[in-house]
Amino acid sequence: MASVVQMTRFARFPLGHFPTPLEPLERLTARLRESHPRVPDLWIKRDDCTGLATGGNKTRKLEFLVGDALAQGADVLITQGATQSNHARQTAAAAARAGMECHLLLERRQVRDEEYERSGNVLLDELLGARIVDRLPSGTDMQAAMESLADDLRSAGRRPYVIPGGGSNPIGALGYVGCALELDAAPIPVDWVVHATGSTGTQAGLVAGLRAVHSPARVLGVSVRQPEQKQIDAVHDLAQRTAELIGTEVGREDVLVDDRWVGEGYGIPTESMVDALRLLATTEGILLDPVYSGKGFAGLLGGIAEGRFAEPDTVVFVHTGGAVGLFGYRSSFQ
Ligand SMILES: *Cc1c(COP(=O)(O)O)cnc(C)c1O
Repeated sequence: MASVVQMTRFARFPLGHFPTPLEPLERLTARLRESHPRVPDLWIKRDDCTGLATGGNKTRKLEFLVGDALAQGADVLITQGATQSNHARQTAAAAARAGMECHLLLERRQVRDEEYERSGNVLLDELLGARIVDRLPSGTDMQAAMESLADDLRSAGRRPYVIPGGGSNPIGALGYVGCALELDAAPIPVDWVVHATGSTGTQAGLVAGLRAVHSPARVLGVSVRQPEQKQIDAVHDLAQRTAELIGTEVGREDVLVDDRWVGEGYGIPTESMVDALRLLATTEGILLDPVYSGKGFAGLLGGIAEGRFAEPDTVVFVHTGGAVGLFGYRSSFQ
């Protein structure tokens, strides 16, 4: 089926190890079956193992974004994110690999402790040679701040390429069309795909890619920041623009979002996240992250408890990475 979508039309700079592994969660499934009657078959798509400086979902997007940047002759990548942004860290690594500079703008979406400010992804940004140009207050128009930085660099004779937060535009979302094609080629029937959704590129690419190959799999995004309807609108908008790029169509009904696991807000730990993270760590030896995949996995466990996901369905959780962020959140776990 994969030949329906011609991914080779798009410029691409190789950064990761693909296809990522797809593994059964046997011990977790057995554990859940002790207390729930109809637990579905649970699998995990290891996009935490993309191989780029501790991996994660931005690697797929960056293959296409950096490919585009190089095609345009750019010599500097600019991007933005929260202080503990996994996207910023993977962009820093991608820039190093491509021989480009990386300039980061970090938004203080919340005030935590010294470890949040300096450890985890921030430590790696610096090790990877990125320049943290500025740390801006919560609520700053980060896109405008990036454009203004790009103007300054152009005036200085540089060729900057601006990557939106999370790498979420149609070019970045192509990375998750690629993941959809890997899932479609998997040797198991995939009824549900569940993952954490933030800046929307992951879900938009998955939905567009799965529609392109007429897969019956449904995709549920577990929101880590916005209310359900707002997130559905945002994912649907990007999914439509991504679908157009690959010559297919998506409907609003293809976009499913659960917003009940956000807690107080983006990047603020919840009890269900901590419990989900500990459960997967102790049954399978797999580490989730506190901001995205931990809340996403809490949403998956919640859906099993409610019977939304049940035997005989097969559910694939896409592990989008981010465990390095744990070092910025030690106080939430000890
Ligand atoms: C960015 C990120 C997500 C969310 O993906 P989007 O494409 O932004 O919706 C999920 N998990 C992790 C670990 C991330 O870094």
